[in-house]
Amino acid sequence: MTLSTHAMKGMSGNGAKAFQCIACGALITRSDHLISLEGRSRHVFVNPLGIEFDLQTFSSCAGAIAVEEATVQHTWFSGYSWRFAFCRQCGEHLGWYYEGVSSLSRPSRFWGILLSRIFS
Ligand SMILES: [Zn+2]
Repeated sequence: MTLSTHAMKGMSGNGAKAFQCIACGALITRSDHLISLEGRSRHVFVNPLGIEFDLQTFSSCAGAIAVEEATVQHTWFSGYSWRFAFCRQCGEHLGWYYEGVSSLSRPSRFWGILLSRIFS
């Protein structure tokens, strides 16, 4: 690998930053899919056990797959149900997939991906 191609690693053609799975390196999403919720794309939550979750919200996440039944229990985004999101390639837990409970929800769906599970 030459120095110039190394410098380009993680960049797509339009200059957006690529985010990859920390476990297997698969491409998960890119910085041009970041989406703002409540005015920001980065969200920090603390669960009842005191564990902190640092998320970024994306409109699309081609490398992730949402599994299991959607639930609104303990949702971090009011008006949205959630499902677990895993890496399509290796099954690593990456975060959650959120869908609006109402058809009027904007955005209608988005992904909340843990910063600790991706790298760029
Ligand atoms: Zn993976």
